[in-house]
Amino acid sequence: MKEVYQLCEKFHLPVVFHTGLTAQKDTEQKFIRPLIFEEIAEENPDLVLILAHGGKPHWHTEAVDMITKFENVYVDTGLVDPKNWETVFPNLEKTGHKILFGSDLPVCGSYNVVSTSKLTLKSPLKVNPVL
Ligand SMILES: [Zn+2]
Repeated sequence: MKEVYQLCEKFHLPVVFHTGLTAQKDTEQKFIRPLIFEEIAEENPDLVLILAHGGKPHWHTEAVDMITKFENVYVDTGLVDPKNWETVFPNLEKTGHKILFGSDLPVCGSYNVVSTSKLTLKSPLKVNPVL
């Protein structure tokens, strides 16, 4: 995978990893915790890593630790109940620029929250729009 990460770094392409539990019965649950991606983040400081689902439902703290520790790591709100965003992602004033709205399956009413709240959405990422 190192070559893939290097290519993604070179072309400014983010890499998304699913984190947290999945409902699919035939899925390997071995690589679901956010801290598993620490080595990749460390070895590839220019690679943008997105930890989808922020480690839902048990490992949100690990996801927040990752975005706090690494400049190149982000989480998304996909499958995270929007009523819990402020609990799941504390210190939004410090980490908000590292949280991506629903990049991977924005369900659980996320769109409703955005349309009815005072949330301001802006993209913290600069990715290659050509590829
Ligand atoms: Zn996912």
